[in-house]
Parts: sequence; structure tokens; C-alpha cells
Amino acid sequence: MNKYIDTDIAEKSLRKYAEQKHANGEIELANGILKAVCKLRTLPSADAKEVVRGKWEKSVFAGDFHKCSKCEGVWNRKFDFCPYCGADMREVE
Ligand SMILES: [Zn+2]
Repeated sequence: MNKYIDTDIAEKSLRKYAEQKHANGEIELANGILKAVCKLRTLPSADAKEVVRGKWEKSVFAGDFHKCSKCEGVWNRKFDFCPYCGADMREVE
């Protein structure tokens, strides 16, 4: 299974790491990391869609009602995906 990352977050993290290495006098390593950041920008993006995750919370209504943590839609049972907003309600391991 493929694993997708947010390249903006990866770039920010790598730049910070390069700054730390540069501050420690590891100039060549810092330059190598910055070259990798440039390479990262040239890679094709995947056709991926961000998954919105939610969880079922207890509703203020009495009984067995469940509220979506994303849209606050209330249902009398739990679903794998919220019928209102489509949030993925499955447990993440
Ligand atoms: Zn929802």
C-alpha cells in the first residue's frame, strides 16, 4: 500500500533539519539535504485525496444516539462513514 505525505510539511521539516546540521558545522550534509528538498519539488504528485476522519461521540440526546465529531450530525447508530459529511469514522490503528 502506498503511503502519501504532505510535501509542504516534509520540506519544512527537512529545511529545519538542514538548519540544525548547518549550525553544527555539517555544511556538506546541510547542502545535501537542501538539494533533496529541491528534488522533492520536481516529483510528480499523486492522485490522492485527503481523508477527513471523525469519531462518534455521545450525543446530548438520551439513549443510543451518536454525534459525528466533524459535522455534529446525530444518528441512532454508528456508520463507517458519516452519512452527512462523509467523514471516515473507522478506527485507525
Ligand atoms: Zn459528519
